[in-house]
Formats: sequence, structure tokens, C-alpha cells
Amino acid sequence: MKETPADLLDYRKDKPFRTLFNLYKGNHHRLIGAMIFFAAKASPVWLLPVFVARVINIISDPETQSITAILPTLGIIVFVQLQNIGTHTMFTRLFSISMRDMETRVRRMLIQQIQQLSIAFHDEFQSGRMHSKILRDVEALQLMSKQLMESAFSAILSITFALAVTLTRSPIIALFYVGVVPISILLTRYFKKHIGRRNREYRSEVESLSARMSEMLEMIPVTRAHGVEQQEAAQMNGLLERVRHRGVRLDMLSEFFIASSWVTFQVFSAGCLFITAYLAFNERIPIGDLVMYQSFFNMILMGVNRLLTVFPQLAKGFEAIYSIGEVLESPDIELNEGKQPVDSVHGHIKFDHVTFTYQGSDEPAIRDFSLDVQPGETVAFVGASGSGKSTLMNLVIGFRRPTEGTILLDNKDMDQMDLRTFRRHIAVVPQNTILFSGTIRDNITYGLSREITEGELQDALDKANATEFVSYLPHGIETSIGEHGARLSGGQRQRIAIARALIRDPRVIILDEATSALDVIAEALVQKAIERLIEGRTTFIVAHRLSTIRSADRIVVMKEGSPVEIGTSQELIASQGEFYRLKQLQV
Ligand code: ADP
Ligand code: MG
Repeated sequence: MKETPADLLDYRKDKPFRTLFNLYKGNHHRLIGAMIFFAAKASPVWLLPVFVARVINIISDPETQSITAILPTLGIIVFVQLQNIGTHTMFTRLFSISMRDMETRVRRMLIQQIQQLSIAFHDEFQSGRMHSKILRDVEALQLMSKQLMESAFSAILSITFALAVTLTRSPIIALFYVGVVPISILLTRYFKKHIGRRNREYRSEVESLSARMSEMLEMIPVTRAHGVEQQEAAQMNGLLERVRHRGVRLDMLSEFFIASSWVTFQVFSAGCLFITAYLAFNERIPIGDLVMYQSFFNMILMGVNRLLTVFPQLAKGFEAIYSIGEVLESPDIELNEGKQPVDSVHGHIKFDHVTFTYQGSDEPAIRDFSLDVQPGETVAFVGASGSGKSTLMNLVIGFRRPTEGTILLDNKDMDQMDLRTFRRHIAVVPQNTILFSGTIRDNITYGLSREITEGELQDALDKANATEFVSYLPHGIETSIGEHGARLSGGQRQRIAIARALIRDPRVIILDEATSALDVIAEALVQKAIERLIEGRTTFIVAHRLSTIRSADRIVVMKEGSPVEIGTSQELIASQGEFYRLKQLQV
């Protein structure tokens, strides 16, 4: 059994950290390199306080030191700054390569998986959500990596460095940091939380104003017609006043909290200054170190703060890992691997007591359905909407698998076949043909592996009744049809779809309400094309208009998932049953 995309990536949506780590497989050495260069590029920030302290220590001791003694230190400072250009470039290079690699791999695997997932899965899943997984969620993974490296790793580095240096030089000050930093952080966060709440309150007030405003604008003709402009304006005034009131309160309170958090920070900073000044005065530490400890104090405080803000943001990345996993780890793929490939098809299809129930539904959509369709036979299905006609078609294509019973193709169980190879022998013309933006030629030859001669193409166009309208297009068959075939009418699109089917020379044809969306004239043109298409091929036609199935060999009348009548048009009319009744309704 071939490995699934999730296996290949070692993807486990319930283990986000490990998954993220595995996604970087093959890039781990680059990541380590990136971390080393990151540490080097950021080093000026933490080294500078140490060197400045050194310079001050030298110049504050003029008796034993000369001014030239600071030159080596200055040299180091300049060097440490200069190396940033090179190390920063190297960091970016290594990190960017790893991240883009990860991103591309995940997207590639997602697309791989999407192409294998069953149609049942795609039916349930809105394509918009899928879109956002491939684009936005993968982007969120990249963003999370960036945050982990540039915020979390950098904060941990600077905290570790500042604490380590302080610990070796003055354990008392280190102790002070460990005691005071958490208190200061907690207080600052307490104030920030309040600001956040006031902000939300204000925003919700503005949102209701905006909602009311659009309502007012929509209502203007009604308001005017009833002569109640003044009441309306007065009502809006009330809302405007509320926003003003909330706004002032927000400004006052948030400024108060901003000031409080700033003062807290400054007070603790002053506390740090006091302790270090005391120690320096008693000559327990050199004077210059005072500057260093002050910087370290800020560094640690900011580092911890950054760690605390980055963790909630990481939650978004975890969600993305989960969301991608929903698709990547879905077991709902068509099981084709290792099954019998289908080389040729005669077109003998036999339903043997087939029952099918949609997932999550109590009632079966198809109940104990049996029918033997001979090669080349045309069977038409009619019946009320919801009677299971489309479901039957999807069972023939293999988009859905019988819940009970079997479908036999040329006397072999379809469950044992590689359906991808079987589908090369069938053609489907649905009610709304899906065309893509490209030329008419591209659309007709879509997905064909063999070369097509101009003669074959012309023949398909002729039989599909498409030659004439295509010749009127500005570039004939090379005319680009715009997104989703926007430049073609419904009837023209169906004829392109028929040409697409013809050129494949399929053995089995499925027409699910192929003419239902067309007007009478367009239908006549498509109908002729359909008659040429189905000649000599096993055909399943679902038709809304009974006039379109005159030529069917047999007609199956469906009701609530079961066939209630089977026979030729004449037989069914003669027996005056369900079909006869339907027929009466339509004329
Ligand atoms: P018809 O093509 O004859 O109008 P369908 O085969 O589309 O009927 O539907 C048969 C029954 O199955 C209906 O009751 C319909 O509601 C149900 N059904 C169709 N598609 C789905 C689906 N994807 N999930 C659940 N139920 C479905
Ligand atoms: Mg249908």
C-alpha cells in the first residue's frame, strides 16, 4: 500500500509541536544554522550593555587606567555591530529556505490528498473552506514558525543571557530580578487587560452604530415616504451620544491604565537603580555595571512580556495544524491502490440488490435496486426530484459505493476495480457542464493522454452540432471561453460537453438532466447531438422532460429510491401507471 500524504509528512493533528517539527524534516540542519546566525545577529543588543559598562569602568578609574584602554572594547563593539549585516543575511537565507520548503511541501501534499479524497468527502466540504486551508492555514504555519523563532527564541535568548551574566557577576541582583520581574509583569498585564476590555466595549458600540447606520440608509425612501425623518434622526442622535460617552470613558480609562503600567515599570526600574547604586556605592560592583544591570532589567522584562504575548498568538498556528489535519488525515479517500485496473469495457452493467444510504441519513436513497443493463442499451430514469436518480448515476461512476449489494461491470464486482481506470471509459454530461478558462480546444481535449488529430476533433464537433457556432467565434476553436465558459450559452456549453464526451469514445455514458436547463430550441440541437453520442454505447439518461427519452430502450420510473415501473415507452403508456400519469402532467 502506498503511503498517504499524512504518512509522508508524519502529520498528526493532535500533536501540533511534533507535527511542526516533522514538517521541517530535511531542513533541521538549516534551522539549527538559522538559530546560530540569529543569536549572532541579535548579539549587539545584549553585548552592548556589557561593553558600555566596561568603558565606564575604565574611564571612572583614571588613576590606574589610560584612555587608550577603551580602544579594544570600542573595536569589539564596532565588530559586533558590523557582523550583523552578514549574519542577518545568512539567517534570513537559511530560515526562509526552510520555511518556504515546509510551506510548499504541505501545499503539495494537500493538493495530492484533495485529488484522492472521495467525491462524498468533497460533497460535504465547501470548496471555500478547502481554499482557505491551502492558502491561509498554511500561511498561519509559516507565521507560527516565524513567531517561534523571532519572538519566542529571541526572548528566551536575551533572558538567558542577561540572567546568566548577572548571576555570575552579582547573584544578589539576579535574585532581585527573579523576585521583581514577575510582579512587574503581572501588574502590567493586569492594566493591559483592562485597556483591552474597554476597547472591546467601545468597538461593539461602534459596530452597532454602523449596523444601524446601514439600516437607516437603506430605509431612507421608506422614511421619506412616511415623513418621519425627524424621528429617525433623533434616534440616530441617541446612538451617537452613546458612542461619544463611551469614547470619552475609553480615552480616560485607557490613558489611566497606560500611565499606570508605565509608572509601574518605571518604579521597578528605579528600584533596580536604587539597589545597583547602593551596591556600587559600597564598592560591591563597579560603577559601569550599573548601566548594564539597568539594561538587563529592561531586557528581561520585555523578554518575558514578549513570551506572554506570543503564546496566545501561537494558538492560531495550532488551530491551523488541526485544520490542515482534517483534510490531510481524512481516511475518506477512494481506495484504488492495488485494485484491478480496467483495460477495456464492454458496457454490461448489473445492479444486484443495491441499497445506498447517505452518511448521516436514516432513510436509504436507493433501496434494493436490481437492473441488468446490456452493452449498448439506453436506459432512461424518470421520477420526482429526490427519488434517487442522481444517486444511481453516482453509483455507476463510483463516486458513491453501495451500502449493500453489488454493481457488476462486465460481470466483475466494481468494488474490486481501480475506478480511476474504469472512468477513462465513461463520459458524463451533467445538467451544468463545468468548463474551465481556456480555449474550446483545451476544454474538449481536457485530460486526454493521446494525441488528437484535427480530423477527430472536427468529427467530434460535427457530431456534437457544434461546428457552426464555433466557426462564428472570433478565433474558432482556439477562442478562449473565459472563466467557467462565461461567453457561451447553456446550449453551446452542453454541445462542448458532448464533443468532450465523443472524443473520448467512451463505452458508458451518463446524462444527468443534460438538457433540463435549456430552452426548447437549444434542447433540440443538443438532443440531436446526444442521439449521435449514445449510439452503440451503454447509456444512462436522467431526464426531466419525457419528450427527450423517446429513443430509450427501457424506461425506469423511480420513486423513493426504488424502481416502480420498468419497460419501453409504449409498454408503460399502455399499462397506464406512474409513467402514464407523469406523461399526462407534462402535456
Ligand atoms: P434526484 O436526482 O432523483 O432528484 P437524488 O439522487 O439527488 O435525487 O437524491 C435522492 C435522495 O438522497 C434525496 O432524498 C436527497 O435528499 C438525498 N441526497 C442527495 N444527495 C445527498 C447528500 N450528498 N447527502 C445526503 N443526502 C443526499
Ligand atoms: Mg438529480
